[in-house]
Amino acid sequence: MARYRDANCKLCRREGEKLFLKGSRCLTDKCAIERRQYAPGQHGRNMRRKVSSYGLQLREKQKVRRIYGILENQFRNYFKKADRKTGITGEILLQMLEVRLDNLVYRLGFAPSRKSARQLVRHRHVMVDDGLVDIPSYAVKPNQKIRISEKSKNLDLIHSALKDTGRGDEYPWLRLSKATLEGELLEIPKRADIPLTVNEQLIVELYSK
Ligand code: SF4
Repeated sequence: MARYRDANCKLCRREGEKLFLKGSRCLTDKCAIERRQYAPGQHGRNMRRKVSSYGLQLREKQKVRRIYGILENQFRNYFKKADRKTGITGEILLQMLEVRLDNLVYRLGFAPSRKSARQLVRHRHVMVDDGLVDIPSYAVKPNQKIRISEKSKNLDLIHSALKDTGRGDEYPWLRLSKATLEGELLEIPKRADIPLTVNEQLIVELYSK
């Protein structure tokens, strides 16, 4: 499957803010944004400040896509599905991204980043209810349980992620049991509960042209 292979920190520098793509490193002063607050590349320091409305819409879309680690075509498909549903398209789009299995493994704190959550899923360490699921984009439904499989419960990566990040029990739509390495999606998160500082309406405007 295709995936983005460029340096993660370049993506944050391009967006001009932390996207938290590298786990615990993002919380230290080694973070590239802390050291170089300008876009990457030869002209990064001199980039024009005035941005068109199209530029703003594009940057917002790229930011969300990069945060969730999704390629362009797949992201566009998410938008099309969200657009067909009844409700606020931007909110539905974010909700669809939030209930992806890799995102929930990350939110529960079983992995330090979405990228490593995706690897945990692909390498068959994660179960949904009683079955192994190795599809990172799997859409988890309310009341489904997300479990670390029995054979993977001793993985250092999972335990150090739970210890370092302290995530998992801080979201009202999730329940986490650190003792049994099990989480549950209690409900589809409301927009106000999704901790993302993005203006999803700009993405709707971009794709609606
Ligand atoms: Fe982004 Fe993390 Fe790299 Fe900082 S360390 S630039 S937040 S990926």
